[in-house]
Amino acid sequence: MRHLAILLAGALAAMPAQAQTGSPGEAQALELLKRGIAFRTVAGPGNQTFDYATWLKAQLVAGGFSDADVRVEKLGDTAYLVARYRGTGKAKPILISGHMDVVEAKPADWERDPFTPVVENGYLFGRGSSDNKFDVSTFVASLIQLKREGFKPGRDVILLLSGDEETNMKTTAALAEQYHDAELLLNIDGGGGDMDEAGKPVMFGVQGAEKTYADFELSVTSAGGHSSAPRKPNAIYQLAAALQKIEAYEFPGQVNEITKASWLATATRTPDAKLADAMRRFAANPEDLEARATLRADPGYVGQTGTTCVATMANAGHATNALPQRATANINCRIFPGTPIADVQAKLAALVADPAVKTTKVESGSVPSDASPLRPELIKVIAKAVHARFPDVPVVPVMSAGATDSMWFRGRGVPSYGVSPLFMKSTDSFAHGLNERIPVGEIAPAVTFYKRVITELAK
Ligand SMILES: [Zn+2]
Repeated sequence: MRHLAILLAGALAAMPAQAQTGSPGEAQALELLKRGIAFRTVAGPGNQTFDYATWLKAQLVAGGFSDADVRVEKLGDTAYLVARYRGTGKAKPILISGHMDVVEAKPADWERDPFTPVVENGYLFGRGSSDNKFDVSTFVASLIQLKREGFKPGRDVILLLSGDEETNMKTTAALAEQYHDAELLLNIDGGGGDMDEAGKPVMFGVQGAEKTYADFELSVTSAGGHSSAPRKPNAIYQLAAALQKIEAYEFPGQVNEITKASWLATATRTPDAKLADAMRRFAANPEDLEARATLRADPGYVGQTGTTCVATMANAGHATNALPQRATANINCRIFPGTPIADVQAKLAALVADPAVKTTKVESGSVPSDASPLRPELIKVIAKAVHARFPDVPVVPVMSAGATDSMWFRGRGVPSYGVSPLFMKSTDSFAHGLNERIPVGEIAPAVTFYKRVITELAK
């Protein structure tokens, strides 16, 4: 999943795209990506993630890693990979996480076969070309380049590739359990650059927080009976009353270091003066109700202002001529980092305030995780690597609304930052969708970016 948290609108400083001179790892990264797309690493029967991991291991070993330093483990129908680039051990390791699995793709729906890589008009098409095999391939190529160049880090750099990020995250949970004594984690499946439709870079987001996903079921039962003889209570009316109370409630405005920095950076690029002012005021005081209301009226910003809960499904009754015996609704919540899931459940129950309406948490596999601290020295390293390609592009900490592998590491106390170097226009972003593609020209700068960042952080 790639997420940029805040939608950016508005007039942007014109900036020429830099010509790319390429990097030594480019050809290998392209080859790794094309070969990688051909592995059908989709959950379920025929899942080739273990084969892909085994093949990646062979490339790393051929590129100078010792056999013992690259480990592939099977887990269920998938697998994970751990590659350790050994350092002198003078400091705690740096972890890198990405994922080898992809979202299902039905060949009949695609213009080209999703598992046959095709280069056309400067784009490489294929399932996983962006999410997440682009980053896996460019990162592996940069590690191999660093080995070739004889780079000796002061700390271990440990690449952790999960095999079910798009589904259950069991491999991620297993990896986080084994690898959490680390300085920090860079997630190559988060953050990233935005380009406008003219191909001008707009911003680079470092994902430092993500909201916690939770579903709650509201359910009411009543005795039922013949609809010709209505009686109280009626489960549908009870549920409807409960839903209206939830709709009417506003969760408090919240900010953290990450979203505060995001608001202030976004305000400087927002041409609508009223909106920009609301961002600044909200960043300074999330209890500013007027600022909060302005931001919450915009679907592009509401998710950044605090916890949100919304009704997404409802189901009730069993016949047109019968009183309902049961009514249920799903409430989907996106919880602000640091707020316990149980607090949100208790809040929903308190709002409903009807013992007949039960509020139950539906298992989602999501674990709560606090925002990672804003680390100025890390942002500096990332900004330097971004600016080597696009000087002056703002590097902005962001919170994403969806979950990535980082959730499991943050949950274990490892500060985690999404830093994928891929710059894309929103119209080129087809991750999870049809005809997923990446501009081939992004490969060389990504290899250069990863080499710079690793060399700097692990020196
Ligand atoms: Zn992903």
